[in-house]
Amino acid sequence: MVIDAHVHIWGFPSFMDLDDKIRTTEDLIAFRTRYPQLYQARLTETPVDNTDQLVADMGRNGVAKAIVQAAPGYITNQQVVAAARRYPDRLIPLLRLGHDQEAAGYLEDPTPAREQAPEEIVSCIEQLGVRGVGETFVRALTNEIHPEKIARDLAPIMETLARYRLPILFPTAWSQFPGALYYGNPIFVDEVAARFPQVPIVLTKMGRGIQTYFDMALTVALRNVNVYFDTVGTTGAHLRQAIDRIGAERIMFGTDWSATWRWVREPQNLHALRMKALDEAQLSESEREQILWKTASRLFRLDE
Ligand SMILES: [Zn+2]
Repeated sequence: MVIDAHVHIWGFPSFMDLDDKIRTTEDLIAFRTRYPQLYQARLTETPVDNTDQLVADMGRNGVAKAIVQAAPGYITNQQVVAAARRYPDRLIPLLRLGHDQEAAGYLEDPTPAREQAPEEIVSCIEQLGVRGVGETFVRALTNEIHPEKIARDLAPIMETLARYRLPILFPTAWSQFPGALYYGNPIFVDEVAARFPQVPIVLTKMGRGIQTYFDMALTVALRNVNVYFDTVGTTGAHLRQAIDRIGAERIMFGTDWSATWRWVREPQNLHALRMKALDEAQLSESEREQILWKTASRLFRLDE
């Protein structure tokens, strides 16, 4: 069994065929600056539900379930839940906060977005049944850079999640979107994780195979048992080291499938690219099972 713990759904009409524009990870990183006009489609076009393509890709690659969240842009949590409900046995939704700013650029004053967040979390959990908060680019919610001040700004969000004991995801390293690379260093998460030990925190991409970000992510995870990793973009060597230090029980498989990432095909396809690190890490049978589905199943409480 395979659970993909990291998927973004909904796309835009102009992104429905990027076959000639995205072949490698590097094409993906440069997509916004290489095709600035095409990138604008994310901000101007009406989003379209692309979960049929997702489920087809899952079928081709033997993925049973996926934890899904909004792609960056003007996509509502309600739209994500509606799409996930079309495949209730396969797709489990998360809500997101500030992913509109992630795509469009960050507001100078993020206070309104931050103040609205707890209410959005409560309503998405209680009325829509989401299983946590997806990737949170914190600059959408704070413009502080001191870790204690960031943690103070995030407190109402973390206190809300603590009531439900549901997770929040913070990305590490680079993204293809404008600004806020500063927060790709997950060292600030140490303060957040320590203050809210009841809230599981996933450091997505575990540093993306880049040594400096991986070292920080691992250091934060060693100090806080509520910190988890997903394997998106990591290397076999980093994955092996992470398993040996924090255990496979805190690591889960993810692809970062999205309207753009789904076009990557070196080697073969996105799924094969993401599986490479697992193969290179020479996992034992039990480590493999743990990372492929058991950790995600427990963390997102899929058997409830
Ligand atoms: Zn992602």
